[in-house]
Amino acid sequence: MKQKIGLFIENYVRNYREMKGARTEWGEPVVAFADSNDILFRNLKDIVNINHALPSDLLENAGTVISYFISFEKAGVMNNVGGTQVSKDWALAYIETNQLIADLNNALSEMLKKQGFKSAVAPPTHDFDEKNLVSCWSQKHVAYIAGLGNFGIHRMIITERGCCGRLGSLVTNVKIEPTKRKCEESCLYKVDKSCGLCVKKCIHGALKLDGLDKRACYEVCLETAAIYSSLGLADVCGKCIANVPCSFINPRRASK
Ligand code: SF4
Ligand code: SF4
Repeated sequence: MKQKIGLFIENYVRNYREMKGARTEWGEPVVAFADSNDILFRNLKDIVNINHALPSDLLENAGTVISYFISFEKAGVMNNVGGTQVSKDWALAYIETNQLIADLNNALSEMLKKQGFKSAVAPPTHDFDEKNLVSCWSQKHVAYIAGLGNFGIHRMIITERGCCGRLGSLVTNVKIEPTKRKCEESCLYKVDKSCGLCVKKCIHGALKLDGLDKRACYEVCLETAAIYSSLGLADVCGKCIANVPCSFINPRRASK
């Protein structure tokens, strides 16, 4: 089942552009699996955010959380390098990938249903509390628990295909062997302070070496949303992750 789900996601992403006439180019996705009863889901609720859902809140008898990362191709990312304003391509990629995630989750749910399994979907974004800026289903934390990657100091998940892309997930009652979490850090600054480029790239001053001012970052994202409102909801920025060592790869793997 693990292989079947991985292949389903891979094929769906590969064919989506042509199927929907999308502009964005996506790379190969990365897929990982978490045990729904992993203690870290409980910790996430008890320690990080009391309003965070447990997999069993989304689906009774939840067995596995499927977490995946859909990477952006390099050319689209490079369009968002430099300048103060987010590129139109990046804004569109954000909107189109959110739609891709919604469509993929529906298709994956259907596939699982045909096999006799249930599933439940959490939204890819826009499910957060605007006052406290916390989500009731944090795709990043879910991805970390599933072993998809580790956090960089930019607060994004660094996967084997970097951090430029979007995360999605789905809860199912299928029992699948969990992916092993990575013990070693992926962020070069966390390892030996040899990077920090993402902080330099945040010209808005929201990202510092010792933390992210979520409110300041969100304000920048809302400015983008206003600029590109004719495209859809693009409350995004991403200047800090475009063309840095962890944009397209896990930089720790590259140096081995
Ligand atoms: S750009 Fe460098 S410091 Fe920032 S998250 Fe990536 S590896 Fe870490
Ligand atoms: S998304 Fe934009 S505002 Fe937020 S930390 Fe990155 S560069 Fe700064």
